[in-house]
Amino acid sequence: MKIEAIDLFYIALPKITRTADGTQDSLVVRVRTDNGLEGWGECDASPLVSMTAYVMPMSHSNVINIREALLGETIDSPEDVIRLRKKAGEYGLDIQQLDHAVAGADIALWDVLGKHLGEPVWKLIGHNVSFKKLPYASVLFGDNPAETRAIADSIVEREFRAAKFGWGPMGRGSLADDIALVQAARDGLGPDEKLLIDAGIIWGDNVDAAYERAVAFADLGVTWLEEPLRTEEVGAYKELSERVRANGVQIGIAGGEGADFYRVADDMMTNAGLDFVQIDVGRIGGITEAKRVADRAHELGIQYVNHTFKSHLSVAASIHVFAGYEEFDLTEYPAGDSALILGLTAPTGVFRDSEGLVQAPDTPGLGVEANLETISQYQRHVKIEIDGAVLFESSQP
Ligand SMILES: [Mg+2]
Repeated sequence: MKIEAIDLFYIALPKITRTADGTQDSLVVRVRTDNGLEGWGECDASPLVSMTAYVMPMSHSNVINIREALLGETIDSPEDVIRLRKKAGEYGLDIQQLDHAVAGADIALWDVLGKHLGEPVWKLIGHNVSFKKLPYASVLFGDNPAETRAIADSIVEREFRAAKFGWGPMGRGSLADDIALVQAARDGLGPDEKLLIDAGIIWGDNVDAAYERAVAFADLGVTWLEEPLRTEEVGAYKELSERVRANGVQIGIAGGEGADFYRVADDMMTNAGLDFVQIDVGRIGGITEAKRVADRAHELGIQYVNHTFKSHLSVAASIHVFAGYEEFDLTEYPAGDSALILGLTAPTGVFRDSEGLVQAPDTPGLGVEANLETISQYQRHVKIEIDGAVLFESSQP
């Protein structure tokens, strides 16, 4: 089959706030083929900047847009998707947003290929089995311990057995303030549920501040401390991880969502001493690149976990990536109430079974469809024009 169209949809809630909530807007990508099939994908980066990478005029031989690389191409096998991902990378070699932007198309290409061949994406990318994963409800801290406690209570009511709290006031007050937040989360979840903490890069390169929290949070049975430091502070991560291990502190160090492309993830896995590497399929360049990281993590004995704070379209894409690795048994599962989490796909609440576990299904492609009504409802109209020539204009899905 041939790629006939690549459609871009910028969707956003009516009001965007300055919370660390990535579910307020999105760039959704649809690939249509000449045999009437369509695949869907989603990017996790500034939607308009990414959209431009699909349509902007050529600057020179290494700045050619993604549409130009993909339209009219043949896609009949996994090798074709890998070839096209490489081609888009070569056309956009000097487009710094390339990996973020092309992620949506890459996911959509795997989806449409799966539908064409009647196979789930996890099989096409080389897995033999799809193992069940424990989803952790991923939420932001409340503004104080009481609000955090209420959020934890609601997670238990929704029958999640694991939860991650992040960002918000964490690290913005004293050590005692941080402990009170984590204690509230633990009190709400109860002693047995898995609790993960995301510091949202708040301590920058300050290993001492991060280590103090690691020790205190370990006492509250926290499984991992995520992004205590900025992604580029690889040396500081290493120092922190080594100090935690040398002193027998029972907590893992997690990071990696800031990995913009494969090489950053590899650097973190090799040099930061991570226990968990967290990869966003909608940032790092799609399923093709995320699978490379999962394979490398498996070789190195580091646990791969998806980073996902977008819709369940991204949740679905993420789970296929590491479906076949039994030891990668946790999956991030956005559990907020944004209409874009809840409404963008059908089914919503993807792949959760009666035991509360999540498994990439046998359905061809990703196993979810985009909900066109939600896209219509939240779509922002975009027109990109140069000297009167229209490069892009939004259309109805
Ligand atoms: Mg995070």
